[in-house]
Amino acid sequence: MTQWKLAQRAERMNPSVIREILKVTEKPGIISFAGGLPSPKTFPIADFARACATILAREGEAALQYAASEGFPALRQWVADQLAKQSAAAGVPWAVDPDQVLITTGSQQGLDLVAKILIDAGSTVLVETPTYLGALQAFTPMEPVFASVSSDDEGVMLDDLRAKVAGATGARFMYVLPNFQNPTGRSMSPKRREDFVAAAAELNLPIIEDNPYGDLWFDEPPPAPLAARNTEGTVYLGSFSKTLAPGLRLGFLVAPKALYPKLLQAKQAADLHTPSFNQRVVAEVLKDGFIDRHVPTIRALYKSQCEAMLAALDQHLAGTGITWNRPSGGMFLWLNLPAHMDAVKLLPMAVEHNVAFVPGSAFYADNPQTNTLRLSFVTASVDQIKIGIAALALSLKAAL
Ligand code: PMP
Repeated sequence: MTQWKLAQRAERMNPSVIREILKVTEKPGIISFAGGLPSPKTFPIADFARACATILAREGEAALQYAASEGFPALRQWVADQLAKQSAAAGVPWAVDPDQVLITTGSQQGLDLVAKILIDAGSTVLVETPTYLGALQAFTPMEPVFASVSSDDEGVMLDDLRAKVAGATGARFMYVLPNFQNPTGRSMSPKRREDFVAAAAELNLPIIEDNPYGDLWFDEPPPAPLAARNTEGTVYLGSFSKTLAPGLRLGFLVAPKALYPKLLQAKQAADLHTPSFNQRVVAEVLKDGFIDRHVPTIRALYKSQCEAMLAALDQHLAGTGITWNRPSGGMFLWLNLPAHMDAVKLLPMAVEHNVAFVPGSAFYADNPQTNTLRLSFVTASVDQIKIGIAALALSLKAAL
């Protein structure tokens, strides 16, 4: 019998807690606030049908052929123009050169490429507390030492940042999610962004800025990207998963010119290029200002669902000692339970009540806060949210 000897990095890989949980929540009848699945009602299927037909008729051979690793030029240009437009509107002009844009197979691939070119075994990587589980999974195989930097309501706490940088020899980067963070739904305040970018520059600390949710604001757009304030010190990651559809597996990164060639080499080795067909279809869908007509419909839907969830939480859990935040965009909100409660243990009880969430401990690189949990307000309808939160409240109150 062949004995396979696994690489050290494979030994460090773990099944995603979220994927395991999603299996449970596939049980019929469950109202799931667990997965981060965008509402399929928002997928522009008819626009894709038209664009697919156009691309196949007009440029079918090129669309089905191998292509450049950097990405489809028209899509790279669109990304550069869009980011420049949004940053200027937010008051911090950012001249994004399309040559700095690398189209990736989801922004998840951006995280993987960053890990491959920046992390050696034993290098310190700074993350928020809590942070995106998928980033921890992408970074872990490169064998970093994680240092979690504390956060408050305004974002990363700078005293702790300075302490963690001082305690490490040459931290490779800090990974941050300034807008409607996964998992908490929290955003960095404008002042904290300014101070954070200044501190990172002073500490010579590179920034990896992940922004898949920034377009999903409810009432006002978020401040300009950190990258706009520190173009040479930041890699910016974006995604089409939440504004068009996640099944496209289409994202992008904007890298400083000094770093771009290495990211491109890593991209070539990973998958040669992101599917040419998907890139051309998306560029076709996006032309003529489609995003400015489409994304407001997603914002309105998610805002109504978020409001329904907050109203149901107020109705059923006010005064119980359980607290939650009020996100101003994105897909998630975050519950803090009394200190003695463990959300991992509560999940099976909630599933018995036909409702599911993700225990917060999954999102910590170290010292997990077990009395936290994440709720997604985008996948379930308003009616399901009302029923699901009532059921969740019953199971939580039984455990109080
Ligand atoms: N970053 C964050 C913070 C996310 O929440 C996600 C999706 N769950 C991703 C990156 C990856 O998204 P995608 O690969 O679909 O662009």
